[in-house]
Amino acid sequence: MDKTTSYFQKIKFFLLDVLFPIHCLGCQAEDCWLCASCLKKIKLRDQQFCPHCEKIITPDGRSCFACKNKSPLAGLLVATSYQEPLVSKAVHLFKYRFLETLAEPLSQLSLKALRSYELPLPDLILPIPLHPRRLRWRGFNQSWLLAKNLAEKLLPGLDLALADNLLIRQRYTLPQMSLKNHTQRHQNVRDAFTVTDPAKIKAQRILLVDDITTTGSTIFECARILKEAGAKEVYAVVIAKRDHGKK
Ligand SMILES: [Zn+2]
Ligand SMILES: [Zn+2]
Repeated sequence: MDKTTSYFQKIKFFLLDVLFPIHCLGCQAEDCWLCASCLKKIKLRDQQFCPHCEKIITPDGRSCFACKNKSPLAGLLVATSYQEPLVSKAVHLFKYRFLETLAEPLSQLSLKALRSYELPLPDLILPIPLHPRRLRWRGFNQSWLLAKNLAEKLLPGLDLALADNLLIRQRYTLPQMSLKNHTQRHQNVRDAFTVTDPAKIKAQRILLVDDITTTGSTIFECARILKEAGAKEVYAVVIAKRDHGKK
């Protein structure tokens, strides 16, 4: 998609959106991409697993007892299922049709999951960063939009700190989706990130925010870099997890 989506395709999408009225992906109601009642019907994932071994069911998606010490990630909360057709459709349009307005309803899913489970409250919320080149191409960082919504709404009346540019992507990487296996994905993101100001990370409990994860390589790598920079604990929340090998 990165290679083929051109400026002209963006214009084409824009014209399509102007010519054909916006309608809910679920019920066709007009003027929104995901209406409140369809959003409400999307079920949260009923079980959470250890993100490291992916076998053990754990409360809140925390790393299991056996993995706790070898995983830089203290927990990964997966809000809903990618098998839900509305979820996969909405995420796809959000990322590849550049529909920024979907950030709001999609972040509601992560928010609902964070409120239903009991992960400790973060000191800092960090989006998974995009490389500046990818950011120029897409026009927005989808993780940043989700993170911003979470920072504003997780605790009503109290904006949590959204740390912009504390974690950056220093190396341009191939889209993880274009890589087949776990090893390739892992190597692709290895040392791709860096912390710009370790003093601000030190002893902080961090919540990483991303849209979709597959093998978790990107999230694990970010967590590793953050822990190395002195973070106390790193958790992550995603809307859904896509099965390996599926698009
Ligand atoms: Zn609807
Ligand atoms: Zn485990």
